[in-house]
Amino acid sequence: MRIEIPRRVRRILQTLQEAGFAAYAVGGCVRDSVLGSEPNDWDICTSARPEQTAALFSHTVLTGAKYGTVTVVDGEICYEVTTFRAENGYDDHRHPKEIEFLSSLEDDLSRRDFSINAMAADLSGEVIDLFDGLHDLRHGLLRCVGEPSERFAEDALRILRALRFASRLEFTIEPKTAKAIHELCPTLQAVARERIAKELQLLCGGGVEAILREFPDVFAVLIPELRPCIGFRQFNFHHKYDVWEHTLCAVAAAPKDFCIRLALLLHDIGKPSCFTMDKNAVGHFYGHASVSGLLSEKILRRLRFDNATVKYVSQLVSLHDYPLAEMTERSVRRFLAKYGEKTLRDLMSVRYADAVATGMGEVRDLHERLEPLIEAVRKEEQPLQLKGADLLVLGVPQGKRISELLSLAQEAVFDEQIPNEHDALVAFVRNWIDKHSQTCYNKSKEGF
Ligand code: ATP
Ligand code: MG
Repeated sequence: MRIEIPRRVRRILQTLQEAGFAAYAVGGCVRDSVLGSEPNDWDICTSARPEQTAALFSHTVLTGAKYGTVTVVDGEICYEVTTFRAENGYDDHRHPKEIEFLSSLEDDLSRRDFSINAMAADLSGEVIDLFDGLHDLRHGLLRCVGEPSERFAEDALRILRALRFASRLEFTIEPKTAKAIHELCPTLQAVARERIAKELQLLCGGGVEAILREFPDVFAVLIPELRPCIGFRQFNFHHKYDVWEHTLCAVAAAPKDFCIRLALLLHDIGKPSCFTMDKNAVGHFYGHASVSGLLSEKILRRLRFDNATVKYVSQLVSLHDYPLAEMTERSVRRFLAKYGEKTLRDLMSVRYADAVATGMGEVRDLHERLEPLIEAVRKEEQPLQLKGADLLVLGVPQGKRISELLSLAQEAVFDEQIPNEHDALVAFVRNWIDKHSQTCYNKSKEGF
């Protein structure tokens, strides 16, 4: 089997070889090339020590010399060139105590996580496959190099990498590898939360449904609040599945957008704690959307997501039961003013996936109904015909009163109480001042 090696990569391999070192393209780039997809980046492994590599190229950065990695900069592209190495003595399920530089490619490949990631290619593009990676790629199998339980015990992050690759490539996790994942998933607690957050990108893979279904135990370690959802029966005619099965179907039915899928993973997380059963033995989950929203915020903060993601995703969760189907032009106008167009569109996607995942049959797509309303509101959209300066003229003092009154005026326009016309708005503000100057405002202090 031969793959195409880009010219610049060939140049690096050649430079190393001409200096007497062994050098290969390795890992993800070989895997992706065999699969016929464009690699993210090209990594190179070599028998040269970091300082020997650095001496051969005009522009290098010692990015991880301790781990044997030198970055070779070629124009605007960076290539990581790493010395063949072994990693020894893991004692915290994550970090090797010692890195040992080696001289053989075989040893270097054997430390790699999965057979499909443990292939190299030489200068001619010939694939070197010592662990049956090609077989596994052909059969859609994700398999550890070596004994799975040892490999996961060394580094728990490999569990999440396994799930990520299986989800992204839509591969099956080979049974011994899967068994070791189930056994060792509690060690995921050793993985940094930021890293867990990053690996949750696996939600956007085409194979996510199967992964969530097969490994709920892993997700319950990452997000313990999910555990009560697993197998939680709903006793409700609107739902065919338990909460977890519903959740994973919802994630898979959504567009491949990280925030939307994360919101769907968490959207019903408050259900178990909101469950009640009425006298007809029908289950209800009153208030679960806002409980799920609060829990989501807590979870996402704990996983160290950035503020914007925490707020956006937990807002989608809190709003996931918003009555979109009953929206009118007026409520669309108000919604857009409060949350913006992206939120409304994303919420439609959340809602669609949520409905599909009830398993109760055909679902109406809300886009058809709501897009014309959004369009209509957008067309009429014009800035409020009243400025802060107008309020100063009316005697409203500089400060937060100005923005309060402007938003009251905006609300009145949205509610169609008054037209968005300067004179009408001034009259509205005058009226408000007259009404409130006695009660709310202390004239001497606030200046009315
Ligand atoms: P991606 O397309 O996501 O970048 P990749 O396979 O290139 O996939 P990287 O994280 O860039 O993944 O790692 C490069 C290579 O290093 C992998 O292909 C694998 O051989 C090896 N590797 C990375 N992380 C580990 C790990 N935790 N344990 C063992 N080998 C690893
Ligand atoms: Mg990579």
